[in-house]
Amino acid sequence: VEAIAEKHLVQPWPVSETIGAEARGFIESGDGIYVTDAEGRRLIDGPAGMWCVNVGHRNKELSQVMYDQAMALSYNSPWYTTNEPSALLAERLAGHAPEGVGHVFYTTGGSSAVETALRFMQFYNNVRGRPEKKLIVSREGAYHGSTYLAASMNGRPRDHDWMDSAKEQVIKLSCPNPFRRPKGMTLEAYTDFLIEEFRATIEKVGADRIGAFIGEPVMASGGVIVPPPGYLPRMRALCAEHEILFIADEVVTAFGRLGHVFASKEVFGIEPDMITFAKGVTSGYFPLGGVMIRSKLFEDLRQSNHNDAMFAHGLTYSSHPIGCAVALKNLDILEDGLLAETRAISDHFQSRLKALEELPLVGEVRGLGLMAGIECVADHVSNNPLTLDLEVGKRIDRHCQALGLLVRPLINMCVMSPPLTINRDQIDTMAEILHKSIALTQD
Ligand code: PMP
Repeated sequence: VEAIAEKHLVQPWPVSETIGAEARGFIESGDGIYVTDAEGRRLIDGPAGMWCVNVGHRNKELSQVMYDQAMALSYNSPWYTTNEPSALLAERLAGHAPEGVGHVFYTTGGSSAVETALRFMQFYNNVRGRPEKKLIVSREGAYHGSTYLAASMNGRPRDHDWMDSAKEQVIKLSCPNPFRRPKGMTLEAYTDFLIEEFRATIEKVGADRIGAFIGEPVMASGGVIVPPPGYLPRMRALCAEHEILFIADEVVTAFGRLGHVFASKEVFGIEPDMITFAKGVTSGYFPLGGVMIRSKLFEDLRQSNHNDAMFAHGLTYSSHPIGCAVALKNLDILEDGLLAETRAISDHFQSRLKALEELPLVGEVRGLGLMAGIECVADHVSNNPLTLDLEVGKRIDRHCQALGLLVRPLINMCVMSPPLTINRDQIDTMAEILHKSIALTQD
């Protein structure tokens, strides 16, 4: 089967690189926070798949609900009909979103959610007679997906520098990374600098040409970057002032990763116009995503007297009954204690990982909730990034695998975002394995 995969599968990483002595190429089963590979080795799933298996693997309730829903109704067209799970889920999601953010459009994942939000912005402004208000402000370091427009918003060079992206529609601001702020600059001054950059951009380009700002509340794949305090509310206020739609990309931060269903309001005190979600909405059991949209925007459309105010955008698998049914059960589990447990255990997780900063290779460990990034540096004095060709993340990952832990390597970093069901002892084990592996890597 390895040879078949090698021959036919297209993957971001060649299968041959992930199969070997430290194999993680073939994962055969999962149970709770663990996965078992083809050779029968049990590993802690440190990144919860791709930041998504929030309630853990092999959850019987989720599995049962998928079976039951498939036996009742496995599919219906979202163009002409609807189904009960999608309506009930919409109501539940609206109950968790900030006041007034009460509409939802379901997609098949995060990229299609971002794509939908951006297309909706353009549709909205077209109908309202301002088609020029379509530029999108994004940031260096961002990750918003792999479809054309979503990928054009990405700010990690490898993701977009090889493609003819929609460059003319995107403006990139600086990555709000306190660790990499100019030496000697206070956090307050750094935040002022970032806000001023956005303000000056609006002034230069013209608010009548900028339709949306899109940002992850905590940048995930860009290296778990928690913005400085006050940054998000001030960005949000600038958007409101200039009628720029604020899109919070919560594909990673929602559904418990930061201890709440949505993090925008509860964690950062902001009320976006749109919130994109995916991944944890079904804990990865079914491909589902969506966009929460401020209901007022639909009122505006109705009042615009446009005779074709229908948003002509649709996906075959929007509102999928199985996805929505599993998402409802997933929400039950989160609400019935897992969110509270995540909030309670997050400090332990963060402090155990923070202790890794004593290792010479580790420049900074940062994070929030149950997501953390471990950034490696050349030395503690300069904090200079390591040269990219060292691929230190991959080397740490290999040591970790040998000791029973999967991590997500990101060039000079490792990212951890375990299933939310992880307990204190398992966090301790994870931290010990990381400590040993990083120590082995630096030797
Ligand atoms: N937005 C963010 C913040 C993400 O992290 C990702 C995926 N890692 C996406 C969008 C794209 O989601 P998907 O891979 O489900 O299309």
